Amino acid sequence: MKNDRVLEVKNLRTSFFTHVGEVKAIRGVSFHLDKGEAVGLVGESGSGKSVTSMSIMRLLQYPGKIVDGEITFKGKDIVNLSEKEMQSIRGNEMAMIFQDPMTSLNPVYTVGDQIMEAIRKHQGLNKKEARKKAIEMLKLVGIPSPQKRVDNYPHEFSGGMRQRAMIAMALSCEPNLLIADEPTTALDVTIQAQILELMKDLKEKINTSIILITHDLGVVADVCSRIIVMYGGLIMEEGTTEQIFYNPKHPYTMGLLKSIPRLDLGENQRLVPIEGTPPDLLKPPKGCPFAARCPYAMKVCQEMLPPYFETEENHRSMCWLLHKDAPQVDVDTGVKRGRV
Ligand code: SF4
Repeated sequence: MKNDRVLEVKNLRTSFFTHVGEVKAIRGVSFHLDKGEAVGLVGESGSGKSVTSMSIMRLLQYPGKIVDGEITFKGKDIVNLSEKEMQSIRGNEMAMIFQDPMTSLNPVYTVGDQIMEAIRKHQGLNKKEARKKAIEMLKLVGIPSPQKRVDNYPHEFSGGMRQRAMIAMALSCEPNLLIADEPTTALDVTIQAQILELMKDLKEKINTSIILITHDLGVVADVCSRIIVMYGGLIMEEGTTEQIFYNPKHPYTMGLLKSIPRLDLGENQRLVPIEGTPPDLLKPPKGCPFAARCPYAMKVCQEMLPPYFETEENHRSMCWLLHKDAPQVDVDTGVKRGRV
């Protein structure tokens, strides 16, 4: 494993053992993350992106369970670590921010107390030093008058400020890995842009590796250098941000791209939602999970799960269209040519 590799996930399988059966939420996911790198994990809800992050943080709730695979964090396999060992990694070397800051901020303590608690627990600083650091962190994330704001309660902050405070708390221990799960979804567009800019900035300053989870491809473009597209508990496509935006190979990625507004296409562009619903992972389809919604689906797609085809360096897609004998598809007209 490379020295600068922070995280390596290999063949991860996570299921939920419900009273109606096993929901195979993650069905063999592999990817890596290097030091200081930001990767976007993109897909609709139910694609498996949040379950992947909860598996990495080892925060899965009953009846969820990692059933197979390896998660190597800073060279150490963490799948089998005890809860006590994981607790010292969480919040210290690994941190997570959620869509709703109120799930992480406790309404009965001041924002400063909560940041200080995280700092003192993991860095062994005394109260005075921890308060100084908490003020520094609030300043770093752009909270005005941090010396005063440190004594405010979460309800005295606006939504955007709460999100910033949560980022301050997550970053106060300078984690090697930050997982941000839809961190800007609940915010208005201007604040959303500010928070993303802040994350980009912090990545440079603290050299933290980031996994940014979102349903919106537009959100990752500016922050991430690589994008992983998930669907039906599997990675459908992975590539650099440029490859995914300008040379997508998987029909699902193409569908996601058509459903977001693009600055370069002006005001009259037509946004096309992807019709249909994701597969039932209680009984996952034996072939391609996207087959029921894919405009290019062929017979083989229903019958066999495609392998990954590497089309360029660092660019792989799970789609039968990339097989050498597959018909050529014009992605704009949907016309197939060649052997079917
Ligand atoms: Fe569509 Fe077939 Fe490719 Fe799946 S494998 S995305 S159904 S063309």
